[in-house]
Amino acid sequence: MRKARVGTEAAVSEVREVSKPAVQWREELTPMQYSVLREAHTERPFTGEYVHNHEDGYYHCAGCGAQLFSSDAKFESGTGWPSFDQPAIAEAVELRSDNSLFMRRTEVVCRRCGGHLGHVFNDGPTQTGERYCINSCSLAFEPRG
Ligand code: FE
Repeated sequence: MRKARVGTEAAVSEVREVSKPAVQWREELTPMQYSVLREAHTERPFTGEYVHNHEDGYYHCAGCGAQLFSSDAKFESGTGWPSFDQPAIAEAVELRSDNSLFMRRTEVVCRRCGGHLGHVFNDGPTQTGERYCINSCSLAFEPRG
């Protein structure tokens, strides 16, 4: 298993495969999705539709459709946000240091469109030791089969 790595400033790609002006994102996304994906806000805990979703399938980026997380990696964290112990493909996400709100956190971003997904913490309960804490509204679930 390859872990996603925190990028240095220089390694963080600013050119995205999917890149749209803000007005277009505003048209395509709900206000909540725009606030999270494009402005890095956080949805209120226990309000998202996937917090307790236990169906088999893949979670895609709600902005660009990139495949991000598998239900196999999802676990109940009790935090009120969908939680995963690893991304479906390490390259699908980009990690970067986030020192906002007087905290040292690692932000998780969709590599394809740059959309803010959530944060990753190193207190995960499984073998990976990681807890990807992801906003429901930044995801679009596709059931398997
Ligand atoms: Fe995306």
